[in-house]
This record gives sequence, C-alpha cells and structure tokens, in this order.
Amino acid sequence: MYNHVVMKELLRKLIQAETTVQRGELAAAEIISDELARSGIDCRIDSWGRNRANLTAKINSVEQKGGLLFVCHLDVVAAGGQGWTHPAFAGIESEGKVYGRGSVDMKGGIAAAVTAIRQIVDSGAKLEGDIIFLAAAGEETDSCGARRFIRDHSGSLPKLAGVVIPEPTDFEVVTAHRGILWLEVTAFGKAAHSSTPKLGINAIASMKTLLDELDNYKIRSQPHKLLGECSMSINTISGGREINVVPDSCSIGIDIRTLPGQQFKEIISDLKKIFAKLKQKNPQFAASISITRQVDALETDSNCDFVRDFCSAVGASATKAVGFTTDGPHFSPLGAPVVIFGPGKPQLAHKQDEYIDIADVEKAVEHYKKIILKFLT
Ligand SMILES: [Zn+2]
Repeated sequence: MYNHVVMKELLRKLIQAETTVQRGELAAAEIISDELARSGIDCRIDSWGRNRANLTAKINSVEQKGGLLFVCHLDVVAAGGQGWTHPAFAGIESEGKVYGRGSVDMKGGIAAAVTAIRQIVDSGAKLEGDIIFLAAAGEETDSCGARRFIRDHSGSLPKLAGVVIPEPTDFEVVTAHRGILWLEVTAFGKAAHSSTPKLGINAIASMKTLLDELDNYKIRSQPHKLLGECSMSINTISGGREINVVPDSCSIGIDIRTLPGQQFKEIISDLKKIFAKLKQKNPQFAASISITRQVDALETDSNCDFVRDFCSAVGASATKAVGFTTDGPHFSPLGAPVVIFGPGKPQLAHKQDEYIDIADVEKAVEHYKKIILKFLT
C-alpha cells in the first residue's frame, strides 16, 4: 500500500505542476528530482529560459550489458475550454481514476516509470546495465528537450539495449508511427484601396488558385504495411488586414503526416513546382513556403531481439503502430531500438476530462520492473 499511495501522490503533484507552454516544465522536474532523491538517486535538472527544464537520472551498473533509456516528456497541451467535470489541473481522484490534463499524456507513464525505478533501486537488485531516465521539455511543440538531450549527451551515453517511451499505448507494444511535417504557405499580393482593386494584387484570390490546385494534389508515397498512407490536411488560413484594403498576404497551415523514409525535401520541391505552374498561368502569382515543425517517422524492426524480448516480458503477441507521434525518432541516431509502451488510453489524450485508471499505472509499474530485470540483470 505504501507504494500505491506514493505513486498516486506523485501523479497528482505532476498534474498540479500544470506544465503548459506558459508555465514550463521546471516545477515538474523538481517534483521528480525530490521523488528520486528519496531512493538516493542523483538527478540533474538542466534548465533554460524562464522555466524550461529537462530532468535526467542515471543508475549506474557494472556495465556488462547495454543500458535502458526511458524517455518521457514533462509538458502537456493546454486544458482547452471550460467543460471539465473536475478542474483540469487539480489531479482529482474519483472512482479509481485520476483526472486532469496530462494524466494520460503522459504523467501516468512518468509516475509509473519513476516508481518502478525507485522500487528496483530500493530492492538492492544488482544491475548489469545502466538505467537512464529522461523527462524532457517541449514534446508537444518543438521537441526542444529531446533535441537538447541528444545534443549534450549522445556522445557520453553508455551502450544501450533499447529506448522505452512510456507514452499511453494501453499496453500495446508500439514500434511505428508516422512523422510530422508542418508547413506554412503564404501567397503574396499588393495592397491597394479596395475602391480600386485593379491597382492591387489580391493575395486571397491568389491563395484560392493554389487551394484549387492542392485539391487535386496527392503527395507521392507508397502505402506502409503498418502505417497506411501519408496524409495532408490544410488546417488554418488567415489573410487580409482591413475590410477596405486589398490583402497583400494570405497564409495557410498544412499538416502532413509522413511515412518512414519519405523525403521532406521532395514534398517541398513538389509544392514549389505547383507555385511555378501557377506563376506561368498568372505572372502576378507569388508564394513562399516554410517548415514550422518536422519530426521523422518511427520504424523499429519488430523482429529484432530487443523487441521480441520486450514483447515476451510484457506478454504481448504483436507490435502495433499508433496515430500520434512521439520524441522517439530523435533517439534513432543512438542506434538502439525504440519501443513505445505505457499505461492509459491514447484516445483520451489532449481531450477534456482526460483521466487514467490508477490500476493501469500500477500495472505499468510492474511491467517496467519486469523489463528492467529482464534486460539489466
Ligand atoms: Zn505524449
């Protein structure tokens, strides 16, 4: 019961830390540092800006075996709206569930991994490979924490058996997800008084010709056996400044979900070819394109020893793909297989009334202990 209460308290405090873009991750990093210190585990908080932070901890071993790197993220998306049954950052417990933004994505996974590591250390188990724990900043926005960790530590990490990401998969072993390419495309015009529109170039009209063209455009790619198709969706548009001014710019935001091996450069050059075609038809057409976010797709070989042993440790018969992305691809350069496996239903992430079943977090603690013992003893 001791651990049950401690684990729930940790989860509650992490939710209350309200690690949105505005509030940053530092408070949550300090909570985890205090928690690990109770088992004598040394942590390092790497903080920057006003309140951004990564936390890393390392449990050293005799290094006869490859280590395990646990990668979590501290940040959460905004609560979004007033419709929560329980306040979004209170961490209220009700009927075996803990409610709150981040409960499922991914403070439940953090609480489980931290508790598992503490219990392994408290048990005095002799480890033959290191445990490295990272709780990173900014996964939901620009992966700044993961990129910073790789920049500063990739050269000094021990050999790794694998990377485990405790994101919510409802205990499926996930080895693949699509990548993200977010683009901002701006059509340019020339401002003029709207009583004399012929003296200007209407950027919204230019954008319309581009949108018509994009209606018939499909990104070149081969469907993937686990991940299906590459997708593209135009999700934002803005243009014009005043009702009586011919608009000189109009922008759209395009969300493209990419497949493993797909070249971002190729997608951008195909779009630039469309711009060139439109400019040929109408010399006044002008547009620019910029990348606002890019994350590679993840594809871990499901047949490698690590994934097979992982599946047998947690009793899974197959690996799966998921619709969301993670920081996983940033760790591919380390050369170790990356597996996503954690408590909670992924479909509750980023929604109102997000919650996690306490029993799932407890189950995850047991799974992570089994995984640590399987690979590191
Ligand atoms: Zn997440």
